[in-house]
Amino acid sequence: MILWIIAAVLAAIILVFTYGPLRRSLVTPHLYALFKRILPAMSDTERDALEAGTTWWDADLFSGRPDWNKFLQIRRPALSVEEQSFMDNEVRQLCEMVDDWEATQVWQGLPAAAWQFARDKGFLGMIIPKMYGGKAFSAYMHSQVVMQLSTRCSALAVQVMVPNSLGPAELLLHYGTDQQKDYYLPRLAKGEEIPCFALTSPYAGSDAAAIPDTGVVCMGRHEGREVLGLRVSWNKRYITLGPIATLLGLAFRVVDPDGLLPVGSTPGITCALIPANHPGVVIGRRHWPLNAVFQNGPTSGKDVFIPMDWIIGGPQKIGKGWRMLMECLAAGRSISLPSASVGTAKLAVRGTSAYCAIRRQFNTAIGKFEGVQEALARMGGNLYMMDAARRLSALAVDLGEKPAVISAIAKYHVTERGRAVVNDGMDILGGKGICMGPSNFLARAYQQIPIAITVEGANILTRCLIIFGQGAIRAHPYVLKEMRSTTESDQRKGLLDFDAAFFGHMRFTCANALRAVWYSLTGGLTASAPDKAPGEMARYYRAVSRLSTCFALMTDMSMFILGGDLKRRERISSRLGDALSMMYLISATLKRYEDEGRQEADAPYVHWSIQDALQKAQLALDGVLQNFPNRFAAAFTRLLVFPFGLPYEAPSDKLGAQVAQAMQTHGDARERLLAGSFLADDLRDPVACGELAFGLLAMVEGIEHRLKPAVKSGKLQPIPQSLPEMERWITDAAAQGVMTPEERRAMSDFARYTDLSVHVDDFPPDLNAAADADQRRRMSAPASPVITPA
Ligand SMILES: Cc1cc2nc3c(=O)[nH]c(=O)nc-3n(C[C@H](O)[C@H](O)[C@H](O)COP(=O)(O)OP(=O)(O)OC[C@H]3O[C@@H](n4cnc5c(N)ncnc54)[C@H](O)[C@@H]3O)c2cc1C
Repeated sequence: MILWIIAAVLAAIILVFTYGPLRRSLVTPHLYALFKRILPAMSDTERDALEAGTTWWDADLFSGRPDWNKFLQIRRPALSVEEQSFMDNEVRQLCEMVDDWEATQVWQGLPAAAWQFARDKGFLGMIIPKMYGGKAFSAYMHSQVVMQLSTRCSALAVQVMVPNSLGPAELLLHYGTDQQKDYYLPRLAKGEEIPCFALTSPYAGSDAAAIPDTGVVCMGRHEGREVLGLRVSWNKRYITLGPIATLLGLAFRVVDPDGLLPVGSTPGITCALIPANHPGVVIGRRHWPLNAVFQNGPTSGKDVFIPMDWIIGGPQKIGKGWRMLMECLAAGRSISLPSASVGTAKLAVRGTSAYCAIRRQFNTAIGKFEGVQEALARMGGNLYMMDAARRLSALAVDLGEKPAVISAIAKYHVTERGRAVVNDGMDILGGKGICMGPSNFLARAYQQIPIAITVEGANILTRCLIIFGQGAIRAHPYVLKEMRSTTESDQRKGLLDFDAAFFGHMRFTCANALRAVWYSLTGGLTASAPDKAPGEMARYYRAVSRLSTCFALMTDMSMFILGGDLKRRERISSRLGDALSMMYLISATLKRYEDEGRQEADAPYVHWSIQDALQKAQLALDGVLQNFPNRFAAAFTRLLVFPFGLPYEAPSDKLGAQVAQAMQTHGDARERLLAGSFLADDLRDPVACGELAFGLLAMVEGIEHRLKPAVKSGKLQPIPQSLPEMERWITDAAAQGVMTPEERRAMSDFARYTDLSVHVDDFPPDLNAAADADQRRRMSAPASPVITPA
């Protein structure tokens, strides 16, 4: 009897939940009301930020079933003939015009000739269409340029990057009136205008939507006429290019107390373009960001009257500024900082790997020591993956996406890995990395790494709020639909939409739970991989598919149990974001490997970086389960996703040694790792010297090996390391007829380049302060080599 009752109750429940009309009249209205009540309140700016941009591969990773065949059909990034020529000529020439040490130490800015060259050759108009005189380069090309400039001089990269990033040109292109575009875009493309964009205020940094700067709608005089406009007051700081800008992009809040416009009294954040020489604009002083010498400074203005048509997009765009900024940021964030960080990492890896091969201690190249190899492998593995993420994220923009979540992943993880690469490089270089001077190729990068971490969304905030927070709403197949249904003005439609979304969500969660169990039981071997996955890589596709299912399930568990509280549980959401990010980085790495034709010699980088990322992804999910406030839910979910413990192992020592070895081996694989980085043809450049010595190493080692018996027998002196002793030794060896002239030259050149490479600078007791000041005085007006404020 009891069984019959239970069966009847169950049947009734199943009927209510599966028969739509019954469910919608008995269950959905209550759930709908509950959902509306518990949904956290969201401001307009939060909504704009969440809804900005598009979703792409991130949506697949959120789905629990990424479609690998579709993913691998995405075209590979490539440059056009015109773009390649620009890289080979203009970009190279510009790099040759700049010396990072001089810029940062002597001039405190870019050499005027280099900056003028950049302006004249169109570097500031890379994103501007040809019809306005711009270069109309692809996002990938833009990324290649910034990356290469970053391997030479950070100030150069930043000053070129910013006009092509979130700022006047980008905003005009998307939202400007025809008149604004026709006037400003040609001037920006030719470098006649230097733009900057001022959003950040002293009391509104990360929370930029809280800017207090205002523009009051009022009548005022402009060019001798009484016109409708805005009285704007602002106080901004950290504005890149601000001190030399001729065109100030400005974000402020519009208020209309007298009701002069039909937009309400507080329409909100608005963007305008103000000529820097407009009366009342205060500009020109500089900040000093960690000895980086790109121009950066504060700007302010008090009751500065501007006409309405200086608003980007005209009066109808009043109050739309935040949405405009968020949309442009979604695309720009994919390019600037990831590219700059990869450039810095390539510089670090090129210099450090060569140094490891040629620098000897205990009679052994330091790159042969296991401890050094461990750090070197991290550098190589991280760089391969960073570059893969940079390429894929830029490609997304070229495919028309404004990838809000992916750009945040790229920004956070590529800059963080850039920091790790530089830190490892510094550890390996020892004193050579510490003592400043023109012979030190890494110290400035080390010093300036925190800048990339901080700008365009400080990293802690990006990890905690954006990657998962935005992803969970935008990229999740159902959450945004559920949320939108609660704001639907038509109650009936809202209920129907909610019913479809909510119960679709339920089915989705159950399917992921079942799939997670199946994958756990089969060790992930049944998870999906692309039809044409190469054997040794297939397991990584499967691993990401499995992780994607676990991640989707844990996302839903977190949202169902924590609800709106998840927004404040940053340690939970940031770990979920880490897992999502690792899946994206692994996808990018697999695609790069495919795009480059499955180069066997690159396989160690691919294996190392993916195994490292898989390990990090599972640790992130494990961290969620360990710290999840509802212990029962955590234990139950663990049973579904990791019933037999964590499945992935960290890269082995053997694999790490293979990566380190590949980095210290001349050839195509190393060149692919460092592709697109600048290498000077100049013996004053420590990286160039290292490369030259490294290029001779194989021959030198061959000679040393051949002469070993002669040294052992005492016929020849032991081969020395220092340059003067080496010269003597070579003469002695030559006299004994044991080396050909070519070998003599190789030994001698090797010793000379190595000597330059291990050289560390020293200075007079005042560290050249007096001489530098004198040089600056002599080189100042009228033909100043440094950029002077406009
Ligand atoms: C060199 C440089 C160049 C810049 N260029 C420009 C420019 O051209 N134009 C412009 O408008 N701005 C620019 N900025 C400003 C930059 O975007 C801000 O510095 C950045 O947004 C962070 O703001 P903040 O420095 O005031 O830090 P804060 O906002 O004070 O943040 C401090 C810390 O708190 C963390 N944090 C804040 N909120 C949260 C949260 N909810 N959860 C977790 N952690 C959180 C942050 O991650 C950070 O670690 C520049 C800054 C620098 C340093």
